[in-house]
Amino acid sequence: MTIRLPLGALTLVLAATALRAQHPAVPRPPAAMSAIREADLKRDLYYLASDAMRGREAGTLDELRAAAWEAKRAREAGLTPAGDDGTYFQWWSMKRTVLSPASTIAVGDHAYPLWTGMAATNTVNADVSAPTVFAGDGSDTTIDVRGKVAVAALAPPPPGTRQFEGVYTPEWHYARASIAAQGRELARRGAAAVILVADSVGEIAFQSVAVNAGRGLYDVDDPATNAAGGRYGGPGGGIPVLLAHRGMLGELRASGQPARIRLITESFDYPSVNVVGIARGSDPRLRHEYVMFSSHTDHDGVRFPVDGDSIWNGADDNGSTSVALLAIARAFAKQPAKRSALFVWHGAEERGLLGSRYHAVHPVVPLRDIVAVLNGDLIGRNNPDTASLLGVQPPHRNSTDLVRMALEANAATGKFVLDSTWDRPTHPEGWYFRSDHVPYVRHGVPALMYSTNLHPDYHTPRDEPSRIDYAKLTRMTDWMYMTGWLVANAPRRPAVDPGFKLER
Ligand SMILES: [Zn+2]
Repeated sequence: MTIRLPLGALTLVLAATALRAQHPAVPRPPAAMSAIREADLKRDLYYLASDAMRGREAGTLDELRAAAWEAKRAREAGLTPAGDDGTYFQWWSMKRTVLSPASTIAVGDHAYPLWTGMAATNTVNADVSAPTVFAGDGSDTTIDVRGKVAVAALAPPPPGTRQFEGVYTPEWHYARASIAAQGRELARRGAAAVILVADSVGEIAFQSVAVNAGRGLYDVDDPATNAAGGRYGGPGGGIPVLLAHRGMLGELRASGQPARIRLITESFDYPSVNVVGIARGSDPRLRHEYVMFSSHTDHDGVRFPVDGDSIWNGADDNGSTSVALLAIARAFAKQPAKRSALFVWHGAEERGLLGSRYHAVHPVVPLRDIVAVLNGDLIGRNNPDTASLLGVQPPHRNSTDLVRMALEANAATGKFVLDSTWDRPTHPEGWYFRSDHVPYVRHGVPALMYSTNLHPDYHTPRDEPSRIDYAKLTRMTDWMYMTGWLVANAPRRPAVDPGFKLER
């Protein structure tokens, strides 16, 4: 069955026939599922995603405050601490590299303040003094840009690079793809630096480009290996690529103006934390194995205001799953399963899955004893009766056993109609790769992601607790819980499918 969504051109294919054909058995939920209560989820989410939490940005006191609250609630739920020194906290450091405010940009007589006058789009050290050359839209390869500051008008991304229709925040995706393509090409032609002047779409995206690039590079080890910042010009080097406002084209288009671009990077460590707790299993032979429930604590903090609101609450992303984990913890503490249940609220997911990348390499229990990872991200919005399960279709499916249990659990609890489009390798959002299950998948752990998908409030200050569908959030929580219950009591742990390989 297919229906047309009013938003975008995506065709929603409901319940892939291959999945429906399996006619999943319908197991009975245990009595303890009644410990998952809509009123608790609502109370917890109004707290965790309140303005007082200031958007829980990774590496700030706001993330730590939220983590401390989660730990307190985990203790109240009855979990055993699994972190450092008998606490609920696994501490780790992010390496952050940012451009110093001492960086300067000048062309002709004009000085352009970094981020407001021009936005750097990559985080590199540079000291360039050279004349400008206007390169049009960059397509005329006879213009000699070698050793110069190439000024070009931002052009649409090359055809075939990416599909923007049906994508949320299309201006941001457009600008990012255009900047990457033109920056790389002008660097290849020998430019010493690149200034791209925004077109109408790029101008809409200017602030998000500036805010994102201004936060710099984050990594769990060496930022030099992190490609996210765009190292135009190849390894070890990298030339600065700047975005200028659309209205500056007039003053920038004259060639031969003296330009001086000084970008100075600063690196420092700062802390993030994973909150970890365990509900011990009841079977002496199986309790050393764990079904792991996964969420992330952090969101995007305090940013530029939209409609007068500058707090990016992250109620759906990912307060929704974070409070779901607390409810699931209460249920497992009340009625243990044979295997143990491990709960991880990751830090710094929004900065590049850092908390899960760290924990997959430094797990609080042996990684081989984690039999499955059930990760949720955005589980409380959109149509009340549809949801996505990612990791179901090849090449994303790494455990047919685990998928079968999740489908049985859905039949027993949420009874969602599954939207199979978001799990496809062809989906324009690449949604499968954008949450904390991925590092575990890459380390060979059977894993799934539960989601009710993107919406227009995603990564905006409008992702508020008042916009959550609490009845739906409760059913999603039941579904995750029931999957974990089946996994934790199964005679055999879910196997990894032979030949599993992600497409990227
Ligand atoms: Zn998220």
